[in-house]
Amino acid sequence: MDELKTCPFCGGKAELYESEAYNLKTETKEKGTRWFVMCGRCTALTCGALKSMAIEVWNRRVNEGNGRKH
Ligand SMILES: [Zn+2]
Repeated sequence: MDELKTCPFCGGKAELYESEAYNLKTETKEKGTRWFVMCGRCTALTCGALKSMAIEVWNRRVNEGNGRKH
């Protein structure tokens, strides 16, 4: 399993969450789930349709190490 790096913003511990997919436009549930990586300290967040994607995006952001981007 891929390992989560610590938060690039505050150095806090990141955790992985799985949540039901939700369409904001139609306000209905969608099939499947979404994966989130969130920092327990500053609530920095990344998400992806797959667990591996959420982790990859998080770790990439850590590697960039240059502040909050949206
Ligand atoms: Zn943080």
